[in-house]
Amino acid sequence: MSEIAIVGGGPSGAMCGEQLARAGHQVHIFDEHLAWEKPCGGGLTHKAVHCFPFLLDNPYPKKIVRSVELISSEDHRANLEMTHPIVIYSRKVLNGMLLDRAKSAGCKVHQSHVLGVDTSTAKPRYSVDGEWRTADFLVLAAGARNQIAAESRPLERDELEMTQGYFVPQTADSITIKFLPHFEGYIWSFPRCDHLSVGICGSMASHTSAQLRTHLTAFVEKHAIATEGAKFYSHVLPSPQERTLSDRAVLGKNWALVGDAAAWVDPLTGEGLFYAMRSGELLGKSLAEGCPEKYTAWVKAAFSCELEFAARIVRRFYRGSFLGTAVTTRMVQLMNRSAVFRQLMGDIFSGSQDYTSLKRRLWGHLGVNVSEFISSVLNLPAAAELPRGGAAAD
Ligand SMILES: Cc1cc2nc3c(=O)[nH]c(=O)nc-3n(C[C@H](O)[C@H](O)[C@H](O)COP(=O)(O)OP(=O)(O)OC[C@H]3O[C@@H](n4cnc5c(N)ncnc54)[C@H](O)[C@@H]3O)c2cc1C
Repeated sequence: MSEIAIVGGGPSGAMCGEQLARAGHQVHIFDEHLAWEKPCGGGLTHKAVHCFPFLLDNPYPKKIVRSVELISSEDHRANLEMTHPIVIYSRKVLNGMLLDRAKSAGCKVHQSHVLGVDTSTAKPRYSVDGEWRTADFLVLAAGARNQIAAESRPLERDELEMTQGYFVPQTADSITIKFLPHFEGYIWSFPRCDHLSVGICGSMASHTSAQLRTHLTAFVEKHAIATEGAKFYSHVLPSPQERTLSDRAVLGKNWALVGDAAAWVDPLTGEGLFYAMRSGELLGKSLAEGCPEKYTAWVKAAFSCELEFAARIVRRFYRGSFLGTAVTTRMVQLMNRSAVFRQLMGDIFSGSQDYTSLKRRLWGHLGVNVSEFISSVLNLPAAAELPRGGAAAD
């Protein structure tokens, strides 16, 4: 394999290109915008920083945030202090940094719109700048909005979230997350170096864009966030179901999907940057070894169990109740009552505690109420039914 064309120069495409160029391949990255302010919170969790330390260790402007305020739909509030901070970038800066790395590794980066691809021939073809060109392999990293791989099905409404928001010229030191009644999604305010990214995400199958706009307007008014003259955005975000992760094709004989195009986003939190970068890196490594078939197995080992777990519990988390009150409200209340639970939530939020090893951490450290609450949300056996009998008082 020598020539690889990458459609999309966001985090997934740029990371993949960097790996491949370093391994000596000829790589062309096509992006219609290059580095741009993609609608996004821009928050990178500890697992991203741990995996890619250059995200912290560089001169590009970024905001390091250690505290989060969670607000329930009934306005209960709890503050989390995170041991590991969230690193927040403007997407223009982040994309620019990743594309600079890809260029330094040897990628040719073009500002062009790819109109279509054809993977039916032995050498895949793509249409750009008025002509059809061939490559040895096509990497499709064009995000969630564009379905350009004919051999993979488009994402359906219940596999997508709608987002709306503003870039507001105002600053803050902590992240705010607000839950809403009977709403599959949340409102966020992410502080960046010189502005806030304030937005809302909600299941496309369950909510209309008018509903999202109403909730967001109420939030910015209540929190005195001045949106007059602020840039408004809306975009889609994958929200994979279990079937998305198990059945949808992400690899063909001469093409592969990475990042949002592959729907690798945590459906509970909307985190996608880490999965975009990691999937780009893994595809790059598998192609560099000449074994693209390893890609899906490596993704499974690296993170898809996490996403499957989140896909299983997301509805119960946003729609469920515990002891007659919404799960999200109980979560905020328990954070105020239990320091251990608060620490646990801080670790989950900052990305230093994954979902799949949560079960091991729970028993023996949490109070009975907290254990029962978590068992109910995660659909685990109650603490008392577990072999070691579980929960100590907190
Ligand atoms: C409102 C919002 C808030 C979010 N907040 C966070 C957050 O705080 N933290 C987090 O981890 N994740 C967040 N995400 C998710 C995150 O933005 C994505 O998971 C991530 O950007 C995926 O990277 P990607 O490279 O796969 O796709 P993208 O970043 O979407 O990049 C795709 C690129 O392809 C280019 N492109 C598309 N079509 C073509 C074409 N035909 N020809 C040429 N170029 C093309 C585009 O210009 C774009 O640059 C958020 C998403 C949204 C919508």
